[in-house]
Amino acid sequence: QTHFLSLPFQAKMSRPVQARRLEGIDKNIWVEFVKLAATYSKVNLGQGFPDFPAPDFLQEALQRALGGGNHMLHQYTRAFGHPPLVTALAQLFEKLLGRELDPMTNVMVTVGAYQALFCCFQAFVDEGDEVIIIEPFFDCYEPMVKMAGGTPVFIPLRPKAPKDGKLMSSADWQLDSAELASKFSQRTKAIVLNSPNNPLGKVFSRGELELIAELCVKHDVLCISDEVYEWLVYDGRENTRIASLPGMWDRTVIIGSAGKTFSATGLKVGWTVGPNRLLQHVRTVHQNSVYHCATIAQEAVAQGFQRELTLFGKPESYFVQLPRMLQQKRDFLVQSLVAVGMKPIMPEGTYFLVADISEFKSDVPEAPNSDEPYDYRFTKWMMKNKGLAAIPLSAFYSEAHKSNYTNFIRFCFAKEEATLKAASDILQKWKKEKTSS
Ligand code: PMP
Repeated sequence: QTHFLSLPFQAKMSRPVQARRLEGIDKNIWVEFVKLAATYSKVNLGQGFPDFPAPDFLQEALQRALGGGNHMLHQYTRAFGHPPLVTALAQLFEKLLGRELDPMTNVMVTVGAYQALFCCFQAFVDEGDEVIIIEPFFDCYEPMVKMAGGTPVFIPLRPKAPKDGKLMSSADWQLDSAELASKFSQRTKAIVLNSPNNPLGKVFSRGELELIAELCVKHDVLCISDEVYEWLVYDGRENTRIASLPGMWDRTVIIGSAGKTFSATGLKVGWTVGPNRLLQHVRTVHQNSVYHCATIAQEAVAQGFQRELTLFGKPESYFVQLPRMLQQKRDFLVQSLVAVGMKPIMPEGTYFLVADISEFKSDVPEAPNSDEPYDYRFTKWMMKNKGLAAIPLSAFYSEAHKSNYTNFIRFCFAKEEATLKAASDILQKWKKEKTSS
């Protein structure tokens, strides 16, 4: 009999430890760029989060949840969503969608929109299923589809240059209807829609959504609708919800985020809204993975929504004030970028904008032995030499299409006035250096 201790001391594992589902999805743009930005940048307009405080009413709600005497808020709550929060969400979405909702079966709370996405892919995508993803896309869709065993099928928004020398708008990036139709087949299980879209800021028009909806109905396809930027829409533009179009409620899961809605990304409260026939499977994934979300955060977000329900459509509503404030920040950053010679694409929504950097090729040293795309090299060079952080746009494209979109970078403008002013100062100084050299 061999005693355990008599085994060789360094009995290292030799079998592969990594599950096959993780193959090829280990890289993550944010890990690298967040680190670089922290090391080199003075002004970080890279990662998408506000550096201004969440609204007072939300901070007060958090403080009350923490120390307001109800110690039960420090314990587990209902696993599929804290009752006050699912109730408030159901009331709000009843207004937005014009249909009756049951808070217990039509709404589920998640750890941010990120977990909501993960639950949806796990719940609906089988080995061999195809999932259509519109490019540029929030980067986690691709690895999440693959982890579920599915195959992502990509379709890019195609930019059309504006005729009159005006700035391009995110509305100039459009789907080709024949190309979109060609992506649907018997293998298609779902399409991911993200409107308003990160990174472009595109708000899909009613016509574009009707085209997607028609194809979903025709091919009996689900729609995972990531609407985390639902309140961030500018210039009085209408934000149509695809679930409100004919035939779509039954096949759509809406995903939202308190992080974006209340400028508090650290709370990590998100949700799914949809028909019970879909949400019951999303609940199965949730109950077998995360199960409970933080009660205090849910309580504070519930109070935030209760406030918004009483102020709905009024000028004091945060859903009215936040986009008004962000639109000014957008316009300020656009002007600052134009001044240095970048060509920003005017976003219709979100707190991101994409800028064309093709005029800057001579600023950035050539890297003959590197296959790193120009937008990656530019972004790293700008961080190290100018102290300004952004994110390369090609990170939001599939491997096959990346090389067509390497002349753009993404900025986040959900920043304090002082941060945007500091960015503008960097750009001004840069412009002076360019003109004097
Ligand atoms: N979807 C999109 C399009 C996003 O931009 C983000 C956050 N950057 C998320 C989902 C994730 O949101 P959360 O922080 O609530 O997990």
